[in-house]
Amino acid sequence: MGLKDVLTRIPVGFLTVLKTVTRRPVTIQYPEQQKPMSARFRGRHHLKRYEDGLERCIGCALCAAACPADAIYVEAGENTNEERYSPGERYARVYEINMLRCIFCGYCEDACPTNAIVLEPIEFPTGYTRESMIYTKEMLLESPPINVPATPQRTPPGKYDRAILPFPPIDESQ
Ligand code: SF4
Ligand code: SF4
Repeated sequence: MGLKDVLTRIPVGFLTVLKTVTRRPVTIQYPEQQKPMSARFRGRHHLKRYEDGLERCIGCALCAAACPADAIYVEAGENTNEERYSPGERYARVYEINMLRCIFCGYCEDACPTNAIVLEPIEFPTGYTRESMIYTKEMLLESPPINVPATPQRTPPGKYDRAILPFPPIDESQ
């Protein structure tokens, strides 16, 4: 490299530095700062409830069957009127999603007959260990509405004999 090359490249180098120092930084202080997400962004899953506090999930495992990543594990339990979690016969006794396997395709949401599982656009899962990325039912299930009891609930016989509720539930006593 001759002296002429050096003399022309030094100003070019300085110009490049000057252009860069005036640019806004591309890094952000996550999680305190977050970039706006697309309206179609799918974040982590939530298990929803009905307005009376019962869980929408009936433990049918259709979401697990639809999942292309084999990320969902469901074990069903039997509801009773003394200890009711969801309408109908069964509820999800165990419900887990392995967020490390999940590809956030939303097929589980599409497959669910009760609209129980929803990928919310507000959060995405993070963790420091592999174990912490297995989201349990307790982590996924949303809280009941204010002044509404959580599950299990004691319910009148025959009120919840269907697994999928027309909501608000039909009051057959009237
Ligand atoms: S979003 Fe897709 S990959 Fe993730 S749990 Fe649902 S079906 Fe499986
Ligand atoms: S989330 Fe929906 S599809 Fe999955 S087990 Fe519950 S009710 Fe069935």
